[in-house]
Amino acid sequence: MDHSSRSTTTPANATRMVDVLVPVALDQTYSYKVPRGMELKAGDLVGVPLGPREVLAVVWAENANPDPRLHNRLKEVSEKLDLPPLKPELRSVVDWVANYTLSPRGMVLRMCLRMGENLGPERVRAGVRLVGDPPRRLTPARQRVIELLSDRLLHGKSEAAKEAGVSAGVIDGLVDEGTLTVEPMPPPPPPPAPDPDFGQPDFSPLQRAGVDAMRALAANGTFHVALLDGVTGSGKTEVYFEAIAETIRRGKQTLILMPEIALTGQFLDRFAQRFGVRPIEWHSELTPRTRARNWAAISDGSAPVVVGARSALFLPYANLGLIVVDEEHDQAYKQDEGVHYHARDMAVVRAHIAKIPIVLASATPSVESEVNARKSRYQRIALPSRFGGQHMPHIEAIDMRREPPARGRYISPRLASEIRKAVEKREQALLFLNRRGYAPLTLCRACGHRFACTICDAWLVDHRFRQRLVCHHCGFSMPRPQTCPHCAAEESLVAVGPGVERLQEEAAALFPDARTMVLSSDLITSIETMRSELTEIAEGRVDIIIGTQLVAKGHNFPRLNLVGVVDADLGLSNGDPRASERTWQLLNQVIGRAGREQGRGVGYLQTHQPDHPVMKALIACDREAFYDSEIDLRERTLYPPFGRLASLIISAGDRPSAEGLGRRLVALAPRDERVVVLGPAEAPLAVIKGRYRFRILVKSARGFDLSDYLRNWLAVCPKPKGNQKLEVDVDPQSF
Ligand code: ADP
Ligand code: ZN
Repeated sequence: MDHSSRSTTTPANATRMVDVLVPVALDQTYSYKVPRGMELKAGDLVGVPLGPREVLAVVWAENANPDPRLHNRLKEVSEKLDLPPLKPELRSVVDWVANYTLSPRGMVLRMCLRMGENLGPERVRAGVRLVGDPPRRLTPARQRVIELLSDRLLHGKSEAAKEAGVSAGVIDGLVDEGTLTVEPMPPPPPPPAPDPDFGQPDFSPLQRAGVDAMRALAANGTFHVALLDGVTGSGKTEVYFEAIAETIRRGKQTLILMPEIALTGQFLDRFAQRFGVRPIEWHSELTPRTRARNWAAISDGSAPVVVGARSALFLPYANLGLIVVDEEHDQAYKQDEGVHYHARDMAVVRAHIAKIPIVLASATPSVESEVNARKSRYQRIALPSRFGGQHMPHIEAIDMRREPPARGRYISPRLASEIRKAVEKREQALLFLNRRGYAPLTLCRACGHRFACTICDAWLVDHRFRQRLVCHHCGFSMPRPQTCPHCAAEESLVAVGPGVERLQEEAAALFPDARTMVLSSDLITSIETMRSELTEIAEGRVDIIIGTQLVAKGHNFPRLNLVGVVDADLGLSNGDPRASERTWQLLNQVIGRAGREQGRGVGYLQTHQPDHPVMKALIACDREAFYDSEIDLRERTLYPPFGRLASLIISAGDRPSAEGLGRRLVALAPRDERVVVLGPAEAPLAVIKGRYRFRILVKSARGFDLSDYLRNWLAVCPKPKGNQKLEVDVDPQSF
């Protein structure tokens, strides 16, 4: 939808009007008058009065033509901000994503403008300078301000107040009396420029074809999707760096998306080794000041390379020339609140609209991308072996039906003896279990009572490090009890099943001389602690790493040669249509940590189903076998990418209300032979935070415009009332 193409003739001295989009959860634009002397174009950032407030908005149509009866009531745009306008391509992306995900356009726009809460980044970059004589009688507050400024020529106004520990009023007072003047601060220096020729490596003959393809794609600069499909350790990063180098040479910006920004510490260093400087970052943990500065550098084009989490996709790049999506298969790219979108898919959309190339990199591509590559919609760039002649890890199953561990233990005798050998050789071992905490369930041996969350349909997880029982869905927690609240029995409570904390206990008992470390997201308080723990591992100060999926991704641990997967079946049993794909990806990634630099890596899969297609493909190192069987299954069942899915989640404070709304929606679904509407059924987690949840699943054929169907459907449905809520998830990733 592009209103700007609509032409209206405006008499020379008539009042001009524009339509603006406000970055809040509203879909419609609002008309405003343009004050005399102000020139506005579509994309300009403006301040407008909205109700009692002054808000940031973007001109969406420059020649608005609202109903003449409204003219008298229209307000004026209050100011045009001194910021780069939003380019047409980004405005199209906003419209496209809103339309596809059924989100209000303003909500998508908000993701483009996350530069801080105020109007614009450091818009009022006012500084203060000491000019006049200080007043004779100084309050202590004024004294501090003057001391602070006496040795500094110019200091940011709000920072000065903060640093001196005074209110803004103290500064204003000194300005009024002529002691200080206010003047604009100079813009911050641009981020240092990466040098495309700084540390270029020599490529192996096997990498060279990939390198050539990367350079060609970046040099062409047109829309093109490449799937960089290389086994772990094949050098995907080094290879896609060449596309970035070429893009830097062309004077354009690159966006590198990462699934989890906490994991990019090693990446930033590698980037610096290749390009001489670190790229700028974009993620939720930036300080407001860095955020404002980075936003400005992105939007004025002075940041050549940005590495960021999914939210970086919507930023207003001045001249984006390349997008790289690393670990493109990762589930973390899906955002499941606010605007429900998949950042990999929307990155392809953005590249298409902006007419630029995009690289999707993975050792275990999503089934969607694999199908696109098989059908030649994407160019496959394959790196089938590891760099430097390192072998892929050897993978073996340990059949837990035949070699079970002792009661209450989770490490089989076989795995224990292999770990012992590794530790004796001074190599590292990784025990992988994708479960946080000590035990997933606590029960009373005397009466059978199980500890469940009071407001979710979930058991409480025992966290011994924190000495609490915790709900993983809502965060509710309580101290670990000593007696059963139900039957009052003492010492009757038992922990059932393992989590990483319990494994550490077992590992410490089995290998008392080994240094163990648990890596789990709940034990990581910040990106910095995460980065320092990873450094400890990489530098060899840990013998046995016990970790959740946090350790699976992207790390290089030079001394790690053995990976033991404690419960390889864990992800297979949850009834999710993507369970096999997820398990395949996760286990490949985690075992791929082994043997990257020296020695032969080995992976042990403790499993009860050694004949499952995922286990068989892993053991045989047969990638094609896995994709063949999975693609065949999806094709037969019309699951994505051979059919389309959307889910409607209806929730309410009581069950009948949620279920009732669900039934009414289903009754109103338009008939269409290309669509199947299933439900409402209880959602897999039927109660979260005291809200009852029902799900309607909508399945359609592949080329069908599901968004349009949903929009027409919801237009005739009753709106959620009271505490009812309806969430639409197009292309849901989990069930
Ligand atoms: P992937 O992302 O495919 O797992 P990486 O890009 O992390 O692989 O490369 C694995 C290791 O091999 C890294 O330590 C990387 O620096 C090294 N490497 C890859 N290609 C080269 C090369 N051409 N020259 C030197 N080192 C390389
Ligand atoms: Zn809960």
